[in-house]
Amino acid sequence: MTGIAEQPTEASHPPEVTLDEVVALCKRRGFIFQSSEIYGGLASTYDYGHYGVQLKNNVKAEWWRAVVQERDDMVALDAAILMHPRTWEASGHLEGFTDPMVDCRTCKLRFRADKLEDSACGRKPSVHPGEHSECDLTEPRQFNLMFETFMGPVRDDAARVYLRPETAQGIFVNFKNVLQFARKKPPFGIAQVGKAFRNEITPGNFIFRTREFEMMEIEYFVRGEDADRWHQQWMEDRMRWHTDLGIRPDHLRLRKHGPDELSHYSSATSDIEYLFPMGWSELEGIANRGDYDLSRHAEFSGEKLEYYDQDKGEAFVPHVIEPSLGADRSLLAFLVDAYDTEEVEGRKRTVLRLHPRLAPVKAAVLPLVSKAGMPERAREIYEQLRARFPAEFDEGGSIGRRYRRQDEIGTPWGITVDGQTMEDGTVTLRDRDSLEQVRVPADDLAERLGAKLAEPWLSPKLG
Ligand code: ATP
Repeated sequence: MTGIAEQPTEASHPPEVTLDEVVALCKRRGFIFQSSEIYGGLASTYDYGHYGVQLKNNVKAEWWRAVVQERDDMVALDAAILMHPRTWEASGHLEGFTDPMVDCRTCKLRFRADKLEDSACGRKPSVHPGEHSECDLTEPRQFNLMFETFMGPVRDDAARVYLRPETAQGIFVNFKNVLQFARKKPPFGIAQVGKAFRNEITPGNFIFRTREFEMMEIEYFVRGEDADRWHQQWMEDRMRWHTDLGIRPDHLRLRKHGPDELSHYSSATSDIEYLFPMGWSELEGIANRGDYDLSRHAEFSGEKLEYYDQDKGEAFVPHVIEPSLGADRSLLAFLVDAYDTEEVEGRKRTVLRLHPRLAPVKAAVLPLVSKAGMPERAREIYEQLRARFPAEFDEGGSIGRRYRRQDEIGTPWGITVDGQTMEDGTVTLRDRDSLEQVRVPADDLAERLGAKLAEPWLSPKLG
């Protein structure tokens, strides 16, 4: 593999932002709220407000662009959350989608036995149960992470269905449908974005681990003999996606799963990890699922799930490479990586240095004063811009306060309309990161900013 460090590269500097700071900004600026807040909140469940929705939509749009629009070998799918219950027998989830759970008899809390270091236990049980004198942990029990519910009015076993814990199975059960209509042959992939649900034992760290979340998954079908090569290729492609969108390379690393960590379906998995404020943690998993899923569904459904190669006159069951990324977790990584503070003219400035294509709002048009035709002219400019991309018009309060607000939501460009605009048609264009201000004609602003949005971008935190 070229260009990617397989071994951890320790970041040259420690995490410079705390999770609390990110949470506070998300709340202050209406990105993300606690779910059901007026009732005291529902644990580890979150709602997205205006800027959060736009940011998450942009994350998903960039994913679709990279994995479907800009490739010839991918098609899209949107499968239902509820699936025939046999799906989960075939996939092995009913039996094997479990985490080991332990209870602490002292503090009465419950933990994942394999993630004790993440525990919220005040007495902090050691990674080796029993070592810590104050903690009295039970033996691990396997706990199935699937949420179950009942379809229709009768609550019996025949009506039991599950909220999908991954979107992947919707892809596997549609393999035949897609093959029939997509005119693709291996290597080719199916991409899907959708909600998934896991009854996590210890959710937490804000939107990092929740029980309801969105996944962006690819199942990429290849010949068995090509699977290792494609696994490597997808690790490179997916690493590049994160860095192209501005994540600093020294805050990303690849980590190979040990044999005891592998999921029940996986023959090899590598995680892309990000240096979150709580330390290196999984951002995206890239698994080689072998032919496990298609073979199992063929066995359980009685359908042939294989590809018939006309040229060679032979049928084979493709192997699958699966890059799987949580949209919410990805958004958190972008927020953490973008969060910055600096002192400007004696005042602290908080700024989200987001890639312009991810920024919820691309440009804010601000009349310098609320008189002399400036608000009207500013509004005209704003209406031209918003036809091309999300823009805001803000005429309230001091210019400094308005800029601070835009900096905190990561708006890359600020446009002020002043007395000179009314004379010569130029506006001031302010860059969020360099704070440079230049005068440019208002007429070609949309063109100019549209071109900037298409340019490659590097985090200013790098230099
Ligand atoms: P972990 O070991 O941390 O529980 P996992 O290996 O079970 O994670 P995968 O099944 O590989 O996770 O899930 C693929 C991706 O989906 C993860 O890399 C992450 O981005 C996202 N994801 C998984 N579980 C959650 C969750 N509970 N909340 C938010 N995102 C999640």
